[in-house]
Amino acid sequence: MPRRTKIVATLGPASDSAEQIAALIAAGMDVARLNLSHGTVEGHLEVLVRVRAAAEAAGRQVGILVDLPGPKVRSGVFPEGGVHLSTGQRLALVPGDADDRCDVSTITVDYPSLLDDLQVGDIVILGDGAVTLRVDALSGVAAQVEVMTGGRAVGRPGVHIPSERLRLQSPTDADLVLLEGLAAAQPDFVAVSFVRAAADLRKVREALGDPAVMLVAKIETLPAITNLDEIIAEADAVMVARGDLGIECPLEDVPHLQKSIIRTCVEAGVPVITATQMLESMIMAETPTRAEVSDVANAVFDGTDAVMLSAETAIGRDPVEVVRTMARIAERAESSADYPQWAQRLGRSQRKVPATTSELIERSITHAAWQACTDCSAAAVIACTLSGRTARSMARFRPTSLLLGMSPNRRTARQLTLSWGIVPMLVGTYSTTDEMVWCVIEAATGSGLLATGDLVAVLAGAPDSVDHTTDVLRIVRLV
Ligand code: PEP
Repeated sequence: MPRRTKIVATLGPASDSAEQIAALIAAGMDVARLNLSHGTVEGHLEVLVRVRAAAEAAGRQVGILVDLPGPKVRSGVFPEGGVHLSTGQRLALVPGDADDRCDVSTITVDYPSLLDDLQVGDIVILGDGAVTLRVDALSGVAAQVEVMTGGRAVGRPGVHIPSERLRLQSPTDADLVLLEGLAAAQPDFVAVSFVRAAADLRKVREALGDPAVMLVAKIETLPAITNLDEIIAEADAVMVARGDLGIECPLEDVPHLQKSIIRTCVEAGVPVITATQMLESMIMAETPTRAEVSDVANAVFDGTDAVMLSAETAIGRDPVEVVRTMARIAERAESSADYPQWAQRLGRSQRKVPATTSELIERSITHAAWQACTDCSAAAVIACTLSGRTARSMARFRPTSLLLGMSPNRRTARQLTLSWGIVPMLVGTYSTTDEMVWCVIEAATGSGLLATGDLVAVLAGAPDSVDHTTDVLRIVRLV
């Protein structure tokens, strides 16, 4: 059985060469994340082309997620290897540009109104909470700060300014310019940072003008927690962005928020990514800490669709080994996760949630497919899917049988890489339900994942139906 939990790996200087990308795909990267907070549009476009070429060469579907910076304020650039800031030392924060150099005595911040918005006594957080600074004095040119909690500042860390003062909103004008530069390359996913309400996602969708792209809502602000239901209803996928979330709310709330966000998303059939610091120590070390291994395994037990690597693969010492390690931890956790219990609970709870007729059909037929697979120990369930919806709806039940998501649409096949358990496969086009079933059974037989005699449940619908509702369930014996 292939690994069910998907791996999102951020590409960066340590991992964006053609050789490294090919090795990351071989190690188990399902989705490549391009973090637009760093680099140039031209640079990201080149990496995107390299990922597509490497995926094609490997005969694998690999999704591409571009992550918009949003109103994230960052420092300038720290020297390679980072700089240690010691508790008690004083330094200056000054407004500056993204490529300004930072050192142990001066940190530039890419936020022009920094000195107008800060107040004496404010706590400013650097990175994902690694270093905290207290503002002691303000002048027209700098904020003098004292390091309250020391640590290492690496790359271009985020600079968290108290959110009630931050004037910027998501998406920013800079986000929209970035989107314009990348839209023609048809990324599979666009992640929207610092979402506060569903309207933020609608603005990005409108600006993109590409309804097929999947929008990932990054949950990392307090308003997003308050407006979670409307955001999940509007989003195509969600990311539990624990770095900034752990700054905006008490750290001890993060694991509880992670669990409840994941559960809500799984029930809604919205893929959810658990992100940040999952194998953080592997930026420098050969092996992860025991706590990190437990964190990845617990995200799997929580039911996450995907786990994400950030700096570990972007700037870490051995990105390929990090992906291999994450794959091993996820596979081991999956072997102990109680997936049937998830399905039983969902079967009960979905009956209570109001739905349109087409949603009702989709919910009940995917439930029926799960039940049929369980009753006849089917080797696989195949979801024939144009938009990916049927396959994602099926994945909600976390079936123990293999789940193949077959689509004639290339983008859909790439987008299924983010969803729990779905093995995406590209198939030819078809014009009738019978032809569709025949076509996917042939593809399944040729995949090497199934054997003669296996029972397979096929979910399909009439390809020419107006609303593309999946309304057919067939059990087929492979011959
Ligand atoms: C986060 O804050 O956890 C996150 C994923 O966002 P970014 O990496 O863009 O800071």
